[in-house]
Amino acid sequence: MNLAYPIYTADAECQDCFKCVRHCPVKAIKVVSGHASVISDLCLACGECVEVCPVHAKKVREDLGSVRQLLQGSAPVYVSLAPSWGSEFRGLPAANLIAALRQLGFAGVSETALGAQIVSDSLALSLREMRSGLLLSSACPVMVDFIRKYMPEFSDCITPVLSPALSHARYLQEQFGEHIKVVFIGPCIAKKNEADRRGELISSALMFSSLRQWFKESKIAPWQLSPTAEDCFVPENSREGALYPIEGGMNETLKAHSGCEHINYMVVSGIDALRQTLDGLRPEDVKEPVFIETLACIGGCVHGPGSEHCSPGLLERLRIIRNTDFRTELPERRLPSIIEAYPSAALPQSDISLQELREALQSIGKHNEKDELNCGGCGYNSCRNFARALLEGKAEPSMCVSHMRNLAQKKSNAMLRCIPAGVVIVNSELQLLECNRRFAELCGGSAPEIYELAPGMPKARLEKLIPFAGLFEEVLKSGRELFREAVKLEQRLLNVSIFNIEPGLVVGALLFDVTQTEFTREQIAEQARQVIDKNLATVQDIACKLGEHMAETEILLRSIAENYADKT
Ligand code: SF4
Ligand code: SF4
Ligand code: SF4
Repeated sequence: MNLAYPIYTADAECQDCFKCVRHCPVKAIKVVSGHASVISDLCLACGECVEVCPVHAKKVREDLGSVRQLLQGSAPVYVSLAPSWGSEFRGLPAANLIAALRQLGFAGVSETALGAQIVSDSLALSLREMRSGLLLSSACPVMVDFIRKYMPEFSDCITPVLSPALSHARYLQEQFGEHIKVVFIGPCIAKKNEADRRGELISSALMFSSLRQWFKESKIAPWQLSPTAEDCFVPENSREGALYPIEGGMNETLKAHSGCEHINYMVVSGIDALRQTLDGLRPEDVKEPVFIETLACIGGCVHGPGSEHCSPGLLERLRIIRNTDFRTELPERRLPSIIEAYPSAALPQSDISLQELREALQSIGKHNEKDELNCGGCGYNSCRNFARALLEGKAEPSMCVSHMRNLAQKKSNAMLRCIPAGVVIVNSELQLLECNRRFAELCGGSAPEIYELAPGMPKARLEKLIPFAGLFEEVLKSGRELFREAVKLEQRLLNVSIFNIEPGLVVGALLFDVTQTEFTREQIAEQARQVIDKNLATVQDIACKLGEHMAETEILLRSIAENYADKT
């Protein structure tokens, strides 16, 4: 038994798209810190989230390691091979597949369809005596879990027999001894749940995709093998049980039993379809005998999540129908060993008051009914269901797209309002997408009034507002952001920074009014010039004075010298 749940999320790969939440029929996915993880108690292992995850972050437990380990043990290990093997390995003779499986170390290969026949034989006896009421097939473990957990009032309507896979395992034990081990191989993830819960019957469950991988790793090419007479199904070939993997197939096997003709047979595929079928109904309201074959996978197990879906559904159905024949004599047998009760497994209901719900709605900006868009962007089909998920700790407010958009809009509005610079965003046509009031003020003219009438001035032409729209064109064309100082706009000087938002498509700009700064700079420069000029004049004056003084001194010295020379 493997304790890790069969479906999990590789957190590092999850891209927070919430597609899995949207598609999960029972909302068994919890989003924490933006990552979507499976809540095992609520999950049905239907595999829908695995199929829809666009980045394959939802994974299925492989179980190859535990099966290899099982084969190392002393007990013989038998394969319970799902009847859809024929569509999975199209064209491959059974003997080749059996030979390949035996090469891997299995003691024998048997068809799960034998278990299906045992189930039908037992059920036919019950149906023969049924005069009114509703029976729901127990063949699909997903549907059994769904009814028990989510529509528990119908638990008693589930046919009280083991699923074909578990019935088959019991049958194999009866044939080959209690000591044998059984590994199921097929397209179904939910069989891993069955194996985890009923390890005494099925030790492990592999998906076809894992088997392919195993063949590859072991360098076994089933198509190239030469099977021997021993490569045959044990203890015998299946017959009409092989119809089980297609929608309506189980019903056909039941109708073939005599005495069951009066039953109203129905097929309901898909969890939502079954919910719709039973919603509002009470089991006691069904006054006629009704048997519903119900499978989670639309079209049946041939479209199970572990299959490759390699050919159109119609062709697969045809192939199965063509290759299946009925036993000429259908036995009247009810194996006591496959009797199983399915009690309710109702989930605890969260007790959420109207006030709590209202508060949760308010936390995502839904203050009245008009705010409740019910857009499904969060993964839930209504804002109220999303609010409930918030209160149950399964969701985060950031999952509400409209709330996040409003929040982002409010933040950007606040920033645009408070920023002292002019801000403008334009598209490649140079039409305004957004601007702030400051930008309108900088543009001057009638722009501020237009802004009052149409805040943000959407669709206004940039070239009609400013004379340097060409700079924006330059950035749109080249993709290179630019910064220009002291760009003239009327009487103002602006420092302009133009940047890419969507290169080539949308650009934004910040416009800083530096007129005052430039003016102050001019003033300082002027004052400095005046000081310099004054200083220069003073210096010149001093120099002049010094020059005169020097001249006078020179004249005086010359006359002294001359006088002195005359006397000598
Ligand atoms: S589908 Fe789910 S698991 Fe996959 S990326 Fe989106 S949120 Fe993540
Ligand atoms: S396996 Fe099915 S029930 Fe479980 S989380 Fe995925 S979609 Fe939901
Ligand atoms: S329909 Fe078949 S393959 Fe799909 S979940 Fe049910 S048992 Fe598994």
